[in-house]
Amino acid sequence: MDSRRVAYLKALDVDVWERRDLARPEPVAAAAPQSAAAPQSAAPAGWAELERAVKTCTLCPLHQTRTQGVFGVGNRNAQWMVIGEAPGADEDRQGEPFVGRAGQLLNSMLKAIGLKREQVFIANILKSRPPNNRDPRPEEVRACIPYLFRQIELVNPRLILCVGRIAAQTLLETDTPIGKLRGQLHRIAGNRPMIVTYHPAYLLRSPGEKRKSWSDLLLAMRTFEQAAGGAPT
Ligand code: URA
Repeated sequence: MDSRRVAYLKALDVDVWERRDLARPEPVAAAAPQSAAAPQSAAPAGWAELERAVKTCTLCPLHQTRTQGVFGVGNRNAQWMVIGEAPGADEDRQGEPFVGRAGQLLNSMLKAIGLKREQVFIANILKSRPPNNRDPRPEEVRACIPYLFRQIELVNPRLILCVGRIAAQTLLETDTPIGKLRGQLHRIAGNRPMIVTYHPAYLLRSPGEKRKSWSDLLLAMRTFEQAAGGAPT
């Protein structure tokens, strides 16, 4: 393990003695049957129209309680796209995804695999904050998800990193627990590779799970490298 990675792992509070199961790459699981095929996007075509539509959206009642629509941030030509659940209080106030404590941990997780926050595109399933950070409701997801799928089409990432149970279960249209969804390769939105890991907010509450998250990040890196060798969709 190189010294830069050791430093980042320490920043994540992950002990870095070389355990054999971590040192050895996990096999990439066979691709799951394609799920969450990208719905025909009902969202506007270009970035400018899409951003305007998100920021002025009134398709679900969350527009009545949000401060602002949180569009997404980062490199619009990114090779990596990170997808979370929904804005929290900090994101609602600042208009940017993952800016609170969970966002800082997400930045460290990205750094651990050699990525700067500005290099990736970060978005959420919901663009408006649910009151008191409650779980998204199915009708809210139905109203909002075309925006995300259009973002995926526009960014055209080589790899999607999905953080957290809600985002993973929504994108994969399943109620399988996240512990079973992580650690394997999924494909969504036109056969794009997606790796699931724990939400950084969960990792802040359960630091003992960071090791598993690190192994998901390694899987994501390997999957990205393999995808980079093949043709992007
Ligand atoms: N949690 C998320 O899933 N998304 C955010 O933007 C912030 C916290």
